[in-house]
Amino acid sequence: MVMTGSLLMEKIVSLAKRRGFIFPGSEIYGGLAGIYDYGPLGVELRHNIKQHFWNRFIAERDDVYGMSAAILMPARVWEASGHTESFADPLVECRVCHGRFRADQPTDISAHEEWHKHKKEKAEWTQPTIFNLLVQTQLGAKEKLENIQQSTVYLRGEITQGVQVNFKNILDSMHPKLPFGIGQIGKAFRNEIAPRDFLFRQREFEQMELQYYIRPDEAEGKKQFEYWKQFAFDWYQSLGIQKDHLRLRQHAEDERAHYAKDAWDIEYNSPMGWKEAWGIHHRGDWDLRRHQEYSGVSMEYTDSDTGGKMLPWDIECSGGVDRAVLFTLLDAYREDELNKEVRSYLALAPKIASVKAMVSPLLKNKPKLVEKAHEVHAALKKVHSAIAWDDNGNIGKRYRRQDEIGTPFCITIDFDTLGETSELKDTVTLRHRDTGEQERLTIPEAAERIRLAIQ
Ligand SMILES: [Zn+2]
Repeated sequence: MVMTGSLLMEKIVSLAKRRGFIFPGSEIYGGLAGIYDYGPLGVELRHNIKQHFWNRFIAERDDVYGMSAAILMPARVWEASGHTESFADPLVECRVCHGRFRADQPTDISAHEEWHKHKKEKAEWTQPTIFNLLVQTQLGAKEKLENIQQSTVYLRGEITQGVQVNFKNILDSMHPKLPFGIGQIGKAFRNEIAPRDFLFRQREFEQMELQYYIRPDEAEGKKQFEYWKQFAFDWYQSLGIQKDHLRLRQHAEDERAHYAKDAWDIEYNSPMGWKEAWGIHHRGDWDLRRHQEYSGVSMEYTDSDTGGKMLPWDIECSGGVDRAVLFTLLDAYREDELNKEVRSYLALAPKIASVKAMVSPLLKNKPKLVEKAHEVHAALKKVHSAIAWDDNGNIGKRYRRQDEIGTPFCITIDFDTLGETSELKDTVTLRHRDTGEQERLTIPEAAERIRLAIQ
């Protein structure tokens, strides 16, 4: 069945809420635009994606360090990084209804003009004003009400600067040799004028990033940039996303951020068109040079062989965690007919899936079956903690429920499992989500099947 993009998006938003993946933030109070909360299945899915990033980009590599910087940072950091000046969108207001829009989004502007036209009105726009995206707050104790001493701080607009301001601490504590990287995962905040497309453009979101520092040299820069571009592309595919749904695109010169020497995006073919999933940016020595200038602290790296000093260049790999969750869900959604019944399922990669397997007794009113199923459940829990138990309703309904949340395997304990004389004693059926096919395996074989699939 051919599904339009917006219909697919509606189905994912609805499934995400109905099945406990993602809820609108503070929903009982009417919610906040561009803010979402993760439910039990969503938080596992997100955790699995982050863990996969952490393993590949940080933990498995000898040349990368992990860290975790604070969300609150002083205003001076954002002056140095250039965000106070240029991290902004042009904002216009409709004089008729006071609706606010981004002046650089022509489809939004014309849609709004059309909307007024239908009501026999004419939209009129203010001149665009520059609207800074950094979220501001205050820190500090109040001693006397008339003398409130507070200092303005910002919730970080990107997690990158948390690494950059710690560059010297990493040098002094870990004594790394170039090239080396620093990676982290964490929340960032942007005061988006028009948050939209579910998890795609939010006001509070999570990023996963690697800053990879290299010798300041053109040839080395090109080589490392190519390497990380391919590394990031391969990683994104390994989330289980279909190959032809991803592409690499170079930024045009006028599209690049204020710091970038070269920039490419990995884009995903989403219901909204090709959208940015990941960025690979050649930041040069922009960040270290600016922090050196603004803080007065030397950010130079000393070559331990020659004693030569240099400001390293930085190749950045940066992706949105929530976007990866959204694109993974969109890409995995399938509808088909199985045993003459229409079903929907999520073809999630087993290592990403929220639940790895579901264990179930064929009938819930047979104590021996239930007891044996609990035994199998406990054994499989040793392979992975995310092994579910379900004995509700008939077995067909249990399978559908697991299909819909993307559980790759269902294991059923039946009378053959108990059969004292049968050669099937101590075997179970293992059902595959995508095909509905079942096979008969011993309990250790089923455990091994799951262990291999989720690696
Ligand atoms: Zn209006």
